[in-house]
Amino acid sequence: MHELLYDAFGIPPFVPPTNDTVGSSSKYGPDEKTKKFFSLLKEAERELYPGCSKFSTLSFIVRLLHIKTLSGWTDKSFTMLLELLKEAFPEGDTLPKSFYATRVLLKDLVSITTSDSNNLPLWLCMKQPYMFLTLLIHGPHGLGDKIDTYLRLVVDELKLLWEIGVDTYDAESNQMFWIHALFQWTTNDFPALAMLSGWSIKGALACPPCNVQTRHRYLRNRQKMCYMGHRRWLSMDHRFQKNAASFDGTVEYDSFPT
Ligand SMILES: [Zn+2]
Repeated sequence: MHELLYDAFGIPPFVPPTNDTVGSSSKYGPDEKTKKFFSLLKEAERELYPGCSKFSTLSFIVRLLHIKTLSGWTDKSFTMLLELLKEAFPEGDTLPKSFYATRVLLKDLVSITTSDSNNLPLWLCMKQPYMFLTLLIHGPHGLGDKIDTYLRLVVDELKLLWEIGVDTYDAESNQMFWIHALFQWTTNDFPALAMLSGWSIKGALACPPCNVQTRHRYLRNRQKMCYMGHRRWLSMDHRFQKNAASFDGTVEYDSFPT
């Protein structure tokens, strides 16, 4: 499970700092937040109960929360299950007492890691195991414009990372350094583009690449808009340019929209 966390949060395997590795410079060794993260992680990695080799506290509650989410359990029923499990487990179990306590543990871990542990070397940070892929899939009822509410949660952190940066622990050199980060791209379907970018995907100018030079035609019988003129994106001597019969009866002389 800790490998999963290291992968998910993009941090190298932890070598606990010792007095020998903490030098006189204030930039040497982990700062207080990083120490807190590692101590929380150590706590969460304890065996579920004395002698349990299959689960740590963290791996068990992650599994439980997964089932809770899939099955739509209420927070109260989750707490009731935890209480029952604590009764059934041998003395000395490390399971949180309630849903609230579980949430606090995970929130502390995640809030620290997301803001302070993006410290991979450049040649590693673009490798697949170290990438975050966040998916927002909301089934038949899309979020619509409310997607802003979800994204708002990270806006302040992204602005901080871009404009000011944050002090970050580099586990490899055991030193703190100043890091900046940026939000690079999103991959989304066409409807989501409208919600994220504000570009209308309906009406006369619905094609983002063609922009204000979008060629459109309303098909009265089909009662829908049709978007033409995409041969403009081919080379001028492409065989499609003069092939009127296979398109809308026209030949194409224009170059691509700029
Ligand atoms: Zn277009």
